[in-house]
Parts: sequence; structure tokens; C-alpha cells
Amino acid sequence: MLKPSDGERGMSKAVFLDRDGVIIRDTGYLGDPRGVLVLPGVPEALTLLRAAGWKLVVVTNQSGIARGFFSEEDHLKVRMRMEELLAAHGVGLDGYFHCPHGPWEQCSCRKPRPGMVFRARDELGIQLEGSFVVGDKMSDLELAWNVGIQGILVGTSVPEALDAGARGAMMRAQDLLHASKLILGG
Ligand SMILES: [Mg+2]
Ligand SMILES: [Zn+2]
Repeated sequence: MLKPSDGERGMSKAVFLDRDGVIIRDTGYLGDPRGVLVLPGVPEALTLLRAAGWKLVVVTNQSGIARGFFSEEDHLKVRMRMEELLAAHGVGLDGYFHCPHGPWEQCSCRKPRPGMVFRARDELGIQLEGSFVVGDKMSDLELAWNVGIQGILVGTSVPEALDAGARGAMMRAQDLLHASKLILGG
């Protein structure tokens, strides 16, 4: 299981990682640990980022819980399976935050709202300035803009609203490994 970075309380920057479609395959409302598949290049990307001092924090919308598709317990099993697969590559995460709510609930944590990022900042001592959000949906980019940090859109999907330039900076990457190289490349 996760540990909040072993008592290290110095301010460090984080890469806020979307889960589905970035770390593991997005199968849509995944509630079965047998469906967890770590995407190619992910262990290497996370290893590189961590070695360079970045904190790795998952922020994931899991409205499948509110929709009744799976339970909190199922979600925990999926999370633990993902962490187990990453641990087999020697990779650990610094934090994991999920929003279990539905879009109709108007919570403060569902992306693109910044609640999970702010919680991570407060609980893990993260310096937001210079941190990144990496995700595969517009809501991930909008999260980055709402927090005022850089977002990187991974994958090949074409976002609905590509007036991105008007709202904030956007970088694109093929996958998480590519994104990590953009982050590390400065
Ligand atoms: Mg996603
Ligand atoms: Zn929420």
C-alpha cells in the first residue's frame, strides 16, 4: 500500500497522473482487478520521474462507484492490483486520490475541479508551481488549467474543445513515457 513519502516533508513537485488511459488500460468503469493492464512504458516512465525527485500522485474520477457499477471495495481491489503490478517493477506511488461521485453531485473533487490536487498538496506537501497533470481527457487538461499548472494530454484522442490555446498551455505526448521525457527535458 501507499506511504506518504516516508515523512519527507520538504516541498517537492508532483506529476498528477490520471489513472485510466494513462497508467492502465481504460476499459470503462473498471471494477474488476482482473481487468487491470499496465500500459507499455509506464513502469519505465514512473521510474524515471521518481528517480528525478518527482512525486507521483494519481488523481482519478471513479463515478462508477456513484453510478452503482462497482463498490468502493471493488475500486480498492483494482487500485491494489495496479499497485501490485507496478511494485513488481519496483515502482511505488506517493499518493492516490479518487473521486467516487457522479457528475450530478457537484462535489469539489471530480476533475476538472481541483479538490484532489489541493488535498494532495496539503497532505503530501507538494509545491504546485512547476508540477504537471498528465491525462488523456479534456477534464485532465482543464484540471491543470484550473490549478494553474502545466497539463500534458496523452494518447491520440482529439479533444472536443481544441481551443486549448485560448484557455491555457497544452502539451501533447503519445503516452506516459513520452510525457515523462517532456517533463524531464524541462
Ligand atoms: Mg483517463
Ligand atoms: Zn468527488
